Order: sequence, then C-alpha cells, then structure tokens
Amino acid sequence: MDLSTPVSKIYMIGPTYARRLAKLNIKTVEDLIYHFPHRYENFSLVSEIFRIQPGETLTIKGEILSIKNEYTKTGKKIQKALVSDGTGKVEIIWFNQPFLIKTFKIGEWYYFSGKVDWFGKDIALISPEYEKIKSPINKKSNIQLITENIHTGRLVPIYPETSGISSKWLRSRIAYLLDKILPSIEDFMPKEITQTYNLLDLSHSLRYIHFPYSKDQVEKSRQRLAFDELFLIHLTALKKKKDWQKKSLSHKFYIDEKKKTDFISSLPFELTNAQKRCIQEILNDLSLEKPMNRLLEGDVGSGKTVVAAAAIYTAYYNGFQSVLMAPTEILANQHYQTLNKLLSPYGVKISLLTSSRKEKNGEGKDVFVGTHALIQKKVKFEKLGLVIIDEQHRFGVEQRGELAKKGKMPHVLTMTATPIPRTIALTLYGNLDLSILDEMPPGRQKVKTWVVPPAKREKAYNWIREKVKETDEQCFIVCPLIEESESLKSVKAAKAEFEILSKKIFPDLRLGLLHGKLKSKEKEEIIQKFRQGEFDILVSTPVVEVGIDIPNATIMVIEGADRFGLAQLHQLRGRVGRGDKQSYCLLFSQSTQERTIQRLKALEKIYIGAELAELDLKIRGPGEIYGTAQHGFPNLKVASFSDINLIRKTKEAAEKTINCLDKFPLLRKKLSKYIIETVLPN
Ligand code: ADP
Ligand code: MG
Repeated sequence: MDLSTPVSKIYMIGPTYARRLAKLNIKTVEDLIYHFPHRYENFSLVSEIFRIQPGETLTIKGEILSIKNEYTKTGKKIQKALVSDGTGKVEIIWFNQPFLIKTFKIGEWYYFSGKVDWFGKDIALISPEYEKIKSPINKKSNIQLITENIHTGRLVPIYPETSGISSKWLRSRIAYLLDKILPSIEDFMPKEITQTYNLLDLSHSLRYIHFPYSKDQVEKSRQRLAFDELFLIHLTALKKKKDWQKKSLSHKFYIDEKKKTDFISSLPFELTNAQKRCIQEILNDLSLEKPMNRLLEGDVGSGKTVVAAAAIYTAYYNGFQSVLMAPTEILANQHYQTLNKLLSPYGVKISLLTSSRKEKNGEGKDVFVGTHALIQKKVKFEKLGLVIIDEQHRFGVEQRGELAKKGKMPHVLTMTATPIPRTIALTLYGNLDLSILDEMPPGRQKVKTWVVPPAKREKAYNWIREKVKETDEQCFIVCPLIEESESLKSVKAAKAEFEILSKKIFPDLRLGLLHGKLKSKEKEEIIQKFRQGEFDILVSTPVVEVGIDIPNATIMVIEGADRFGLAQLHQLRGRVGRGDKQSYCLLFSQSTQERTIQRLKALEKIYIGAELAELDLKIRGPGEIYGTAQHGFPNLKVASFSDINLIRKTKEAAEKTINCLDKFPLLRKKLSKYIIETVLPN
C-alpha cells in the first residue's frame, strides 16, 4: 500500500464506503490522509468518577456494571448504562441507539468522553463517545492513559463528514492508515527549507494534525502543511514559467515604431497612460525570442480591446495571423465589429467564427474572432502567431491549451475583467506576466451605488420609472444568481420576474427579457433592440455580466445582490456608466443581516475591482470570487490565499529551490504529481 492506493483497497473499506468517500473527493490513501479535521473536541481531561461535575466536558474510564433499553414518557428509546471506576459510579445515557446494548460487555472497561449534565435528579454522562480500553487495566483508579485511544481521552479530531461517513469512522480508518504509512513516508521538503523556516517534518505533521496531544502540535502541523500547499503552487508556477520560456519561437516580431504611432494617433480617442503602458509591455514581449504569456487585467470599460488590437496589428504587419477568443457569441460579435472598425483601414481582414455563424471561407483572413467554435478541429490556421483570450476565467484549461496548440508556438495574451487580488496573482498566476489597466478612460463617472433595503423597493421603482421617462436612458434589471448562472431554474426565475415587472410594476414601460437559454440569434435580436432603444428595461439573468456595451444604459438593478461576490457585482455595475452620463447601480437584497448589508455597502465606497476582490477573499474565500464551477482553482485545505506573510515566505522558498530542483529528487517527484491547473496553456 502506498499513497496512491485507491481507498477501496484499504482494510475495512469496500465499494460502498469508497463511493461515499468519493463524495468528499477522497479517492486514494493520500486523499484520506489529507482529509484534515476542521476542529477538535477537547476530551483530554481524564477524571475520576467521584470528582465529576455537571457542565464539564471530560473523559472517564470505567467498567460496565449494567446496560439496558428504557422507554421515556414520550415513547422514545434511551439506553442507560451504569459505570464504575472504583472511586464512584455514574449513569451514562444515550438516545435512540438500541444496538449499544450489544456493543458493550458487562464487566469490561471503556473510556467515555462527553459532557456531564443533569439527567432528572442525577448526574449523568450524556451521549458520550466511547472506546474499549485495549490493554488490561488495574482496577484501582489510574488516570494515566496507557493505550493509544483515538475517540476519547484526548483532543479528538472532528472531520468534514458526509452521509454514511462519520468522524468516528474516519478516525479509525485514518489512524490505521497513519500507522501503516507514516513509517515509510519520506519528506519531500529539502532540509534547508525545513530548517530555515522552522518547519515540522512531514510525518509528524500528518500524525499531529489528526491526533495531536496539544493545541500547540496542531498549530505546528498546520503551519507545515499550509507551507507545503503554497510552496508547491509557487514552485509549479515557476516551473511552468521556466518551461514556457525555454520554448523558442520560430519567429520574432519586428516593432515598427512609425506604424505603432500612426495606429495610436488614428484612434478615435486618446489612450490612457495605463493603456499606453500595457501596449508597450505587450509589444516588448512580442519582440522577444521567447513566447509571451501575459495576463492583461483591467476593470470592465478600462479599454482592453484596443490594447488587444494594437497587438493584433503588430502580428499582422509581421505577416502573422491572430485569434481572439471570447466566451460568448455576443462578445465575439462585439469584438468583431470593434476590430473591424479599428483595423480594416489597414487592410486587416477579419473573420467571425461562432457556432451559429461560420464563415465558410476563412482563407486569406488575418484575424479570427470567435467563441470556443474556434477550437474545433476543423479550423486550421496557416500562420498563427498570436492568441488572445478574453475573459479567460470562463474557459477551461484544456480549451486554452488547445487553442495555443494551433499555432507553432504563438504568443498568448489572456485578458480578464475579473479583479484578481494581489495575493492570488502572486501565487496562482505566478507563471504569467501581468499588465494592469488601473486607469479608466477620462470622462467616465463613477456609477453611483446604493444598497436598497426591502422597505425602499417601491420608492426605487418609482425613481427608475421617472428617470427612464425623463431622460430616455435605459435600465438593466439582473435577476439573482441561482446555482450555475444559466441553469433552467435561473431562466425560470428571470421569466417570472419579467412577468411581474412588465405586468404589475412597469406596465407603462417597454421591457425585454434576455437569458442564456435563448438561441443566440434571439439573444442578438434582443440586444440589438435594446441598443436601438426599443426597450426601456432589459430584464436579464446574470449573463449580462459578460461584456455588453450599451452607452445609453445608465441604471443597473441587481436583485438578490447578496448572492453575488463583491467583485462580481462590480463587474455587473460596469455594464452601465459606459457613456458620459451619470449612471446608477441599485443593489436589492432581502437580507436583513447586518453583516450582509455591510458587505454590500462596500460597493457604495469602493470603485476599484481588485480592492473589492481582496475584500471578497477575506470575507467569503477564494471559491466565491470566481464562482463555484471555476476551473483551475486549487483547493487549499490549510493555507489561505489571504495570508500574505506565508505567501511571501513560500514564494521566497520556491525561488530559492527552482534552480536546484535536480538536487531534490523527492521534491521533483512530488511536483510532477502535483498537477494544478493554472491559466497557462499546456
Ligand atoms: P473592456 O476593458 O471592458 O473590454 P472595452 O475595450 O470594451 O473595455 O472599452 C470600453 C469602451 O471604452 C469602448 O466603447 C471603447 O471604445 C472605449 N474606450 C477605450 N479606451 C478609451 C479611451 N482611452 N478613451 C475613451 N474611450 C475609450
Ligand atoms: Mg472586454
């Protein structure tokens, strides 16, 4: 047996338990050993029976004198045992566990851990954990523990459970595994690192995180295991970066300064300094021998598209094709139009490729804009030099990889409006170079944001009506996030909301409905109508989060705002405020919880996506930032992405190690098995 052995092969675990464990994502011995307790019950106080007091949580050990089932007045079955340790006797009560009568043997000794309380007029131990004392014991009281007990008489681990898998069961299987595995486990962490950072060795950490003798041991173990998690992420990122940069390009782009200046000065607007800086960073990458792998991060509306266009134009005059992949057809269409406007004056020929609209003849085109349809095997590129992926969080890793494979070794630029907290950028995206658009084009006004409590809903609706009628400006109403954003349920919810809004609340206005289950042609029609002002209000599932640009829309209403992350809400509100008119965002929430309201109110004050993401990370954890079905987010068990200190330390340790990996074969092996998905294709 080793760490990779499937759980079904473990003694006392058959297919049924294996299936249940799979629900906890536990498939191998290693997974089970790395299933850590989320807390500990402190049963380490071992007491003689005559000393015990109501209210205490403790352990006694004693001999079963009697045990029986009894019925309470309400007809429930309880189990009553009488236990003695020579210093006194105490009653033990369990509820509704009639099998216990057969579990215990009269005259045998057990540990019992639990809470002492009144039961009727007597003191009793209520529903304690119990465990047989394995070795013979002197009947005279001896409170020193003499066997390795796991359920009682110590800090007892409590685990994340699932139906049919209790903490008690997990304890016994994990204790068994630890005994089998730990003696042969070798620490993959280089000695230099454990010494420098004062880390516990691996096998002690694994023992003490499950079965500690003190809180201090828990702490030390957690420190070591948290260190491992972040260290391996850093190291993986560094390794990927190194590997990526080793690949040499068959081509190197030439940067024509005049062409660059002409392109920039021909734009209908002056670039922001941030845009100029990011273009420079990207062009710089393009002029090198090694392939670019850069992430362009910028809030919605910060103007990423034109930065992408500058890169595409550079590829074009170097004789290379580019691909721009967007997550939705709506976005692909928008990009297609924008690029056409910006680049066709230079003779750049652009093709649009989505599942509903496939141009048969992609031949002779310089740029392919599209959705994931671009990845399909049939699409062939003759001379692909640049791959740009918009809103990369929405694509799976394989999809990104496949696209990159279509070129010989294309430069890759990923763009995202998902604000990434600095700590995450440092770890997960350590393999990418980062360009940040931290400046909005001039003239944009902050979207005034209010959290609207239920009592003010009526008033808010009236305000919207007046505003829309007075100004002819338009309004989005986004329905709550329900599970996956485009599940049938959320479509139903949007339809219901649409009915109420159009019949009862705004019968005098023109409303449209947009949701993900519409055919893409229908979607386009609706958006087109909204763009042309044929609707005053567009009711939508959260699909609008992704890049619709409608400058005349100035009001964003978000229902069930508490269900969204702050960064997500920030992205949604970025759908308005695209023109030069004052825009508004109304956050509706039924929640009366002060905490929730305070969280939402952050949006009234903070207008920087990355800052909101950082807050989200602190309040809700990383899973929430990118949504639940997020690819590529390693599941940290002990460490936290908000622990800046540890992130720095582990990064430093990884940087020290990356160039001498050969010296540490165990670490190398661990690393090669440690597959995490990052945004890096391949
Ligand atoms: P995003 O970063 O969300 O993809 P876009 O590239 O779609 O943003 O740009 C949003 C809008 O801002 C577009 O209408 C674009 O033409 C405009 N824009 C981009 N850069 C500037 C700028 N420097 N000055 C004025 N408007 C700009
Ligand atoms: Mg965009």
